[in-house]
Amino acid sequence: MSFPEPIRDVQVKYTQLFINNEFVNAESGKTFPTINPATGKPIVQLQEADKADVEKAVAAAKEAFKLGSPWRRMDASRRGVLLNKFADLMEQNIAELASLEVLDNGKPFKAAVFDMFFAIQVVRYYAGWSDKIHGKSIPINGDYVCYTRHEPVGICAQIIPWNYPAVMFVWKFAPALAAGNVVIIKPAEQTPLSAIFLASLVKEVGFPDGVVAVLPGYGPTAGAALTGHKDINKVAFTGSTEIGQIIMQAAGESNLKRTTLELGGKSPAIFLDDVDIDSAVEQAQEACMTNMGQCCVAGTRTFVHEKIYDEFVKKSAALAAKRTVGDPFDPNTINGPQIDEEQFTKILGMIEKGKKEGAKVEAGGDRWGKEGYFVQPTVFSHVTDSMCIAQDEIFGPVQQLLKFSSVDEAIERANSTNYGLGAAVFTNDINKAMMFANGVRAGTVWVNCYNAVTPQAPFGGFKMSGIGRELGEYGLQQYVEVKNVVIKIPQKNS
Ligand code: NAD
Repeated sequence: MSFPEPIRDVQVKYTQLFINNEFVNAESGKTFPTINPATGKPIVQLQEADKADVEKAVAAAKEAFKLGSPWRRMDASRRGVLLNKFADLMEQNIAELASLEVLDNGKPFKAAVFDMFFAIQVVRYYAGWSDKIHGKSIPINGDYVCYTRHEPVGICAQIIPWNYPAVMFVWKFAPALAAGNVVIIKPAEQTPLSAIFLASLVKEVGFPDGVVAVLPGYGPTAGAALTGHKDINKVAFTGSTEIGQIIMQAAGESNLKRTTLELGGKSPAIFLDDVDIDSAVEQAQEACMTNMGQCCVAGTRTFVHEKIYDEFVKKSAALAAKRTVGDPFDPNTINGPQIDEEQFTKILGMIEKGKKEGAKVEAGGDRWGKEGYFVQPTVFSHVTDSMCIAQDEIFGPVQQLLKFSSVDEAIERANSTNYGLGAAVFTNDINKAMMFANGVRAGTVWVNCYNAVTPQAPFGGFKMSGIGRELGEYGLQQYVEVKNVVIKIPQKNS
């Protein structure tokens, strides 16, 4: 696939809710704006989903999931064909999709294109799984035949965040549909544009009516109507730990929905004293600041061995100062704006807290420019474990450099937060790397790399970073119920 050109004046073609394969207005007639974070100005008004629209989507989903429906009768292999067709259409529309993402989310165009490449890979990966999801024949005691079926869970609500809008959409949509479920997707209110564009492809591909709904709207209204709905069988959520707790509670109180949560993190990256410092500094900063630090798995606690700490600090500060900030459509831009005013204010507040707690600002430390939600790439040295900037998720381009002296100490300190999403160790000493990989409490451990996330391998968190896994075969398992079927027969033979 060739690299597309950005469409600076990309037009927003879709602004409605997508229910039963149709674009429709909200029952309430209410609309809400989506904002361009590079300017702080509204892009367009969208229809705002609420409880009544959720009811409509659930009714359509029930019809689509009924026994004997076109979707339930469809060959599993055909589901794979539809998903592959969806990926083809994503490819054909990649310039428009990536440009909408830049406009709505503020990420640099190149990053938006890489997001789309990754999203397409994920759809194709799960397309391949569609007719390979099957149970087992089990030799149980007695005169019986016993086998398991891996059946779809049913109606799945999928609530997605704003940091990787299209990627998060397909992480949830693709495994669910591969396994034969029906989905109701609520994009984040900050970034509905790529989701609603993807909805238009659903119809073009030919998924039967009611299989996919996309409902832009707010969390406490549309989102809560989904998580509390008694006819929805599962909720999959990515976002903050705080909202994850609310969602799990709503799922439990309503009907014990199957729940998968992909939440926040404060991931550690450990640099031993045998690393190549220039490359280590680059990897550490990219781990932390990619996507303007708005990444659940961002390596925000950079632990540096005491022997190389001072040099590491100096080089990190110089590198952060070189990180180009600005217009996300400009090909030279590395850091665009933060997502919205709330996050922007929160990040600047955390930076102030870090200064007050005694950490030293080595680079950045303030807003960038006068318009939009840009933050200067910021590096703190002399950070200690108890500081807020070492404990709480900042979700901005703010790097914490901490000093350590032994691997045992690094493991203990790496584990000293409530989170456990990602972790990394950089060293040429395999024994130390293995000690760290086994000892750290995190869903993914990288050795001499960071952010190597692929469609085939599981992603998710220990502790308060989440429940369940996405991607890979493990991710698929979250979208099936296992049914055991036992048949009495006259005589069993081995
Ligand atoms: P959030 O958790 O509030 O929102 C994520 C999604 O949940 C959105 O679609 C939102 O509409 C929905 N939602 C909110 N309240 C809900 C409710 N009561 N019921 C159902 N759905 C609800 O995230 P945010 O407020 O946009 O960001 C705040 C913090 O979340 C960030 O600072 C960051 O720490 C974290 N975050 C994490 C991720 C991640 O990938 N893990 C992504 C985005 C944000």
